Amino acid sequence: MSTTLKDVLDQQVREGAPELVESLDRNRLRCHACGHQCPIAEGQPGVCQVRFNRGGKLFVPWGYSAGVQCDPIEKKPFFHAYPGALAYSFGMLGCDLHCGYCQNWVTSQALRDPRAVSPPRRAVPERMIAEAVDLGARVVVSTYNEPLITSEWAVEVFRHAKAAGLVTGFVSNGNATPRVLEFLHPWVDLYKVDLKSFNDRHYRKLGGRLAPVLDTVGRLQQMGFWVEIVTLVVPGFNDSVEELSEMAAFIAGVSPEIPWHVTAFHTDYKMENPDTPRETLVQAAAIGRRAGLKFVYAGNRPGDVGELENTFCPECHERLIERWGYFIRDYRLTAQGACPKCKTRIPGRWAEKFGGQIAAHPFLPRRGTAADRAE
Ligand code: SF4
Repeated sequence: MSTTLKDVLDQQVREGAPELVESLDRNRLRCHACGHQCPIAEGQPGVCQVRFNRGGKLFVPWGYSAGVQCDPIEKKPFFHAYPGALAYSFGMLGCDLHCGYCQNWVTSQALRDPRAVSPPRRAVPERMIAEAVDLGARVVVSTYNEPLITSEWAVEVFRHAKAAGLVTGFVSNGNATPRVLEFLHPWVDLYKVDLKSFNDRHYRKLGGRLAPVLDTVGRLQQMGFWVEIVTLVVPGFNDSVEELSEMAAFIAGVSPEIPWHVTAFHTDYKMENPDTPRETLVQAAAIGRRAGLKFVYAGNRPGDVGELENTFCPECHERLIERWGYFIRDYRLTAQGACPKCKTRIPGRWAEKFGGQIAAHPFLPRRGTAADRAE
């Protein structure tokens, strides 16, 4: 009998963090790693398929990687965190949602969709971080699948990243719980939330709910994570003026200093809606600014959205960072992260000086250096 991906992954586990598990009656468990907070019966997995109850204990993904890539940090996207830095990015498999337009479906839907093939490779955190340092990465990011459902492994990698002086980040759908955010807080510096809609019915179509995502955004801000929010604007799904206005008002209500990225959809996976026109992005950005947001960016259309790729001082309107796609064309912030003209402090996590870019495009590290095939 041939070994399935599920068989392989069932071996690549260890017991979940006690902070994220609650014992229920009849050997059942409740998992608190994501907003589903699944009650899981003995022998069963949670909604994500990768965390499961074996003998009354919660087992969670461990010790493998299904993709490692070096990305410019602008690709995450973080625009107010170490511009130009190389982000050593790793992912595992699975997701708690099943978005029809997922751009990472090969890893996120590996256990639901037989077309999604991304072989896991055994990974060792020390070797991953040594590789990240060798390549010149400043930031290490858990991404490509939903990192909340693989939080224990991310924290293990981040322990080593922090010991090496690196910054850490999550690229997440934001379907979190108070418990998992407390668990991550000592280890995660940057947190990107994908705010997909402001309509609970839409979220339910994707397999989630709106309320936990909104709660996460508020908590992340209160707890002091550096937060940026992305909305992939999908024509016919979430591009109405009403919905974009509600999203912008919500973010501005949490903090007008949170950067909001409105990015262009390109036909992907199961969703065949048309590509997002430039005009829709420009309109979404105007809605964001009218709501009071100080930093709104239009993404996925390099060179096509005028000044909407650039960062300006919200006080004197001096251009501070000029971008073309992921490429930093100009960087003018002071060593304190302030506008050089009027000295206004710009919210974000800034390096003392801009050290240039190792790459403005993603690239793969040499195969097999930090991870070996798990099969
Ligand atoms: S991570 Fe989410 S979907 Fe997976 S078992 Fe835990 S609560 Fe359920």
